[in-house]
Amino acid sequence: MTTFFIQQFGCRATQADGAALERQLLDRGCTPAPDPASAAIVVLNTCTVTAAADAQARDSVRKIHAQNPAARLIVTGCYAQRAPEELASLPGVTWVVGNSHKPQIPNLIDALSTGSLSEASINSQAGPSNNFVPTAALFPDSPDVPFHSFVGAQFIAPHLGKISNPDDSLNHANILTGDIFSHPEFLSAPIQGGESHHTRPILKIQDGCNNRCSFCIIPFVRGKSRSLPPDQVIREIQKLTAEHPPEPANLKVGQPILAVSSSTSFTSSTSPAREIPVAQALLPVPASSSTSFTSFTSFTSSTSSTSSTSPAREIVLSGINLGTYGRDLFPRIEFIDLLRRILDETPVERLRISSIEPLDVTQDLIDLFAGTDRIAQHFHMPLQSASDPILAAMHRWYRSEHYARRVQLIHDRLPNAAIGADVIAGFPGETESDHAATLSFIDRLPFTYLHVFSYSPRPGTKAASLPDQVPATTIKRRARELRALGESKSAHFRRAQIGRTLRVLTLHRNASDERDGVTPALSSNYLSFSIPGNHPHNRWIEVEVTTNDSATVSASTNDRIGATSFA
Ligand code: SF4
Repeated sequence: MTTFFIQQFGCRATQADGAALERQLLDRGCTPAPDPASAAIVVLNTCTVTAAADAQARDSVRKIHAQNPAARLIVTGCYAQRAPEELASLPGVTWVVGNSHKPQIPNLIDALSTGSLSEASINSQAGPSNNFVPTAALFPDSPDVPFHSFVGAQFIAPHLGKISNPDDSLNHANILTGDIFSHPEFLSAPIQGGESHHTRPILKIQDGCNNRCSFCIIPFVRGKSRSLPPDQVIREIQKLTAEHPPEPANLKVGQPILAVSSSTSFTSSTSPAREIPVAQALLPVPASSSTSFTSFTSFTSSTSSTSSTSPAREIVLSGINLGTYGRDLFPRIEFIDLLRRILDETPVERLRISSIEPLDVTQDLIDLFAGTDRIAQHFHMPLQSASDPILAAMHRWYRSEHYARRVQLIHDRLPNAAIGADVIAGFPGETESDHAATLSFIDRLPFTYLHVFSYSPRPGTKAASLPDQVPATTIKRRARELRALGESKSAHFRRAQIGRTLRVLTLHRNASDERDGVTPALSSNYLSFSIPGNHPHNRWIEVEVTTNDSATVSASTNDRIGATSFA
């Protein structure tokens, strides 16, 4: 039986793809390996949001190949879509598969493991309509290259993926990539691995983005905005909140990036993950006005389990641009209506929204959050800059006053809500005065945490070719100043919470928690707690906030309720 290992990088959307792929492979009888060194096939599911993310993926390829030279390495994900040739030249890489063809990886692995790999076999397994590209068509000089076969992102943004000085002596893996904008598949499965073993499953309900922020590569590597239909979202949440048996999995989490992540405590993990049993299935879903979709998300019961896990109490809804949820569906549905349906039709105890663009935070949405304790009081809104000229150059569609208005609306209605933002330091043309405007804006608003990114040019984006690129040392210094401000805002927020009584959800304990005799927990307003004692994970505990240190809030369990758990 083929053994496989998925090395995961990137945001929650990419991790959801990895979870779906894992389910597909398990359903085909492949066996998860505990680490890349013992796997016959290693899939690296990459991120390309920054130059650092690219470098991390390349380092990982080299390391895995050195550890396990016999393994076949399949590199997929956003980096594979953006620059397949770069990855194909790395030692040990057998195949590079872009996001456009990610759903075909199980076919590829079948073919690799049975030794039946040929153009004909791949095409025959893939079926006639799925654009599985013949290898012979993958080379630009071939007269038979179909439009979609190699160009993909390169066609959309001509300088994506080019290597300036290709060396023919390097490894040249096969490449499968295509026009991401013509691929409407929605590949997703709830993520149960990684962060604290994901006591809180993450469900991707939206993928892709129709915006064109000038610094962002995501639309070119993830395609058009598309949504998981509401009936399926409801079904997934009903399954996640029902009793279900566990199943071992080997999904690993690499370096997280921020594009859709909201958690300041989101950390890498190499611990084996537990998966909700999910059957890979090709489910027909309602057609939109322009295209039909295929989903890889479905649940089924497992027969391989020996014990049951408790139902999920908190579920995190994620997407690339969640506020655009449902606009591609027919009939169209708004994100807020989806939330109302989830509250009405599922027993989920707490929903958390991973990230939402500021202009999608309406008064109605804030009222919905304020009117229930079943939605976490947590808003993560990308800011990027508070200088209006820089926001214009970024092609962001709001200005600082619009953003400030949203923050104020939230704070007026929910004064204890977490309000977090992404900020980019050193966008091209950013002057000291632009930077100072951003610092001052953040300082005067009730942000509770920041995610700060140092700008790095992404080939193919408009910003990469803008004049006045900011020197690296300046970017570093500005990022440092922003981080210091973010830490000071977080500390201020934690101090303001001392004395309050909060209901928190316990998370898995790691080795240092065991050593220290504490249990980590998370509040609705996104405070990370450290609670004395060994508490089972996935339980509600009422705590009183006592002190805070640099990262977490200490708490004592509330004697007044005479119990530590609501479970
Ligand atoms: S909205 Fe987000 S994902 Fe879409 S282009 Fe802008 S930064 Fe990228």
